[in-house]
Amino acid sequence: MPTANDRTKDSAKDGASARARSRSDAPPVSPVEDAGLAAIVSHPLVQAAAERFAVQEPRYREWQIEVTRIASPSFAEVARGQWLAQRFAEIGLTGIHRDEVGNILAMAPAQGNAQHPANANGNDSPKPCITVIAHIDTVFPPHTPTEVREEGSMLFGPGISDNSAGVTAMLAVAEAICSARIPLALPVLFVGSVGEEGEGDLRGVRHLFAESSAWRHRTAAVIAVDGAGTDNIVAEGLGSRRFEVTLRGPGGHSWSDAGAPSPILALARVLDRFSQVILPQSPSVPKSAVNVGTIEGGTSVNSIPEQARARVDIRSSGVAELDRLERALVLAVGYGVETENRRVLATPGRAFASLTSELRKIGDRPAGDLALDSRLLHTVRAVDSYLGNQAHLQRASTDANIPLSLGMEAITLGGGGSGGGAHTLQEWFDCEGREFGLQRLLLTVLGMAGLG
Ligand SMILES: [Zn+2]
Repeated sequence: MPTANDRTKDSAKDGASARARSRSDAPPVSPVEDAGLAAIVSHPLVQAAAERFAVQEPRYREWQIEVTRIASPSFAEVARGQWLAQRFAEIGLTGIHRDEVGNILAMAPAQGNAQHPANANGNDSPKPCITVIAHIDTVFPPHTPTEVREEGSMLFGPGISDNSAGVTAMLAVAEAICSARIPLALPVLFVGSVGEEGEGDLRGVRHLFAESSAWRHRTAAVIAVDGAGTDNIVAEGLGSRRFEVTLRGPGGHSWSDAGAPSPILALARVLDRFSQVILPQSPSVPKSAVNVGTIEGGTSVNSIPEQARARVDIRSSGVAELDRLERALVLAVGYGVETENRRVLATPGRAFASLTSELRKIGDRPAGDLALDSRLLHTVRAVDSYLGNQAHLQRASTDANIPLSLGMEAITLGGGGSGGGAHTLQEWFDCEGREFGLQRLLLTVLGMAGLG
């Protein structure tokens, strides 16, 4: 995922996400045009909340170190979820609970009776809400050392930025809203989501926004907080499909069964063939990427393996490209297996059982874009303009993919500071300037929720 420069900023994207593709045609919005934002930034309680950000930095840093120390691989997020629920309670959020899949939810309720345009329907149904999400899982397997090293404003440790920076920023914004008693026109739902990374396949947000979920129908906009930084607005969901290729054969002794088909050799041919797939380089075609992430198989050096397996990641912003690359993988599997089976058949001597293949889809993240004229994008642009912040529109694979694919307004922003080395043991985060990113997040949340 790291982008070009040295102090790589891993803001607002999952670790394996695509490089930035700026969409400079998005119109800048001046805060002067946005009367709602002008009223928000001049509100004394909002100013008080923003002032807390610099003062509270030692607490944020402590949260970030604590949460990083709790191992939380996808599918094993219980301990980190409990930690988050305790922080939500300390801050004073209400309705704290863990849902069926392990997401941790809490609410900053709306106050006052102001009629917000999004709630002008006049009936008694619960008010729409603004949903802020930070994923609590990491890519690191259990037993990865979770120590955090501190050097001045720098913190080092696996997951320190992705997504301890996002979790910390979500907590900081929730804390600021509660402690400054900012009157919200719409309630804000805060969610620590599970299963954002890798084979988690966005299972937390999939559940949160499932057809049967009340949150899908109540949520007016989604703001995901992922990683560090303030230089990106992820408004385009990068699609991805992930596959596990398994080849199986009779196996045998390397001498007495010599000539039997080898799943490992066949898999090598599959991957070599697939690696030759042509990826579009033209700016007019959606950018795509393929990766073979893991490979395994065999039991010992003198055994013909019975099995070989690889995991493959295909990414593109275009559905047609995803389809084309998936077809290329299917063809490569067929080619590798047939070539090995033909070799065995052509070899005189014993008959062996043929190789078989299985291609299993282990991930499918839909693509989706936020409309350039959406209220959410307009609000973030207005906030950036007010703060004098330069940010590029970016495409990435994050929790926002699911609501975007459902036609909801969703965006992913970084949690301030700067960070890099995501998904590596060298991951780092620099707390310097975090309050700027927190202010950006708070104003975006308030711009959407409105003041009561
Ligand atoms: Zn992330």
